[in-house]
Amino acid sequence: MSTVVINKIDELRDIIKNVKLQNKSVALVPTMGCLHGGHKSLMEKACSIADFTVVSVFVNPIQFCPGEDYDQYPRTLDADKLVAESAGIDVIFAPSVNEMYPNLNKFSDLTMVAPPYELTDIMCGKSRVGHFDGVETVVTKLFNIVQPDKACFGMKDIQQLFLIKKMVADLNFPIEIIPCPLVREESGLALSSRNKYLSDSDKTSALTISKALFAIRDSFKLGIKDVKKLFDVGLTNLDKNVELEYLEFVCEDSFKKIDSSDTITKNVICAIAARVGGVRLIDNVILEV
Ligand code: AMP
Repeated sequence: MSTVVINKIDELRDIIKNVKLQNKSVALVPTMGCLHGGHKSLMEKACSIADFTVVSVFVNPIQFCPGEDYDQYPRTLDADKLVAESAGIDVIFAPSVNEMYPNLNKFSDLTMVAPPYELTDIMCGKSRVGHFDGVETVVTKLFNIVQPDKACFGMKDIQQLFLIKKMVADLNFPIEIIPCPLVREESGLALSSRNKYLSDSDKTSALTISKALFAIRDSFKLGIKDVKKLFDVGLTNLDKNVELEYLEFVCEDSFKKIDSSDTITKNVICAIAARVGGVRLIDNVILEV
């Protein structure tokens, strides 16, 4: 069956109502489009665990901070349709901004969902103030519109995954969150819609982000548990054109930051955000004890 593109909330609700009447399970994959192999792996996972699958393609204005790339963000719906179809997705939900936020000009009027401060005062939440409020708000709206039984999120956006899992637990959404592994190019570079902006030389520099993370993971496996030493291993592997935003270590289970004076005794996420040629990239590895 071919993939259908739906732009209207009411139309999607009617389709979902029908699907539920047939006792079929529904899985959702929220995205901002410009679909690549990372998204495709999420969509394939969704298709393998549910009878009916929806991928949302929506560049969500309220999760971009002032001065970020909201206007430039690639919008490629025709190509996205081909990727979604090849993954076996039933519906692409691609609403307009007005459909999702009819009163966006009165932004201060919008009811928002916000994660706890201490979980956003680190990593991406710290450098992109308000970003995760925008993410949680749009994901809540998508959950209410699609009413999925399951929703797939990538481990590339590891802080987002943690916060969405917590939101679902805290707010009692009857939805199972399915974490999906981070997908990389053969070179090691994490797949991202923003890789499109990178020139060839930027790409060479960007490769050192995954290289630094892998070097940290290798050193950790060889027995270095001292955060300061691991931090230095990362730094020495980064190209000079990589402007580091953060290199942080957080506990996998609590997302609490680990100080540079600490020694790692349980599973830790090591994450980097950096700009290369002005393009913001994120990546992470898990250090398993
Ligand atoms: P985005 O379109 O960037 O908002 O991403 C939509 C979903 O795809 C999120 O759950 C991301 O974590 C996931 N995703 C993006 N890139 C990758 C990747 N390289 N590997 C796995 N998941 C990814």
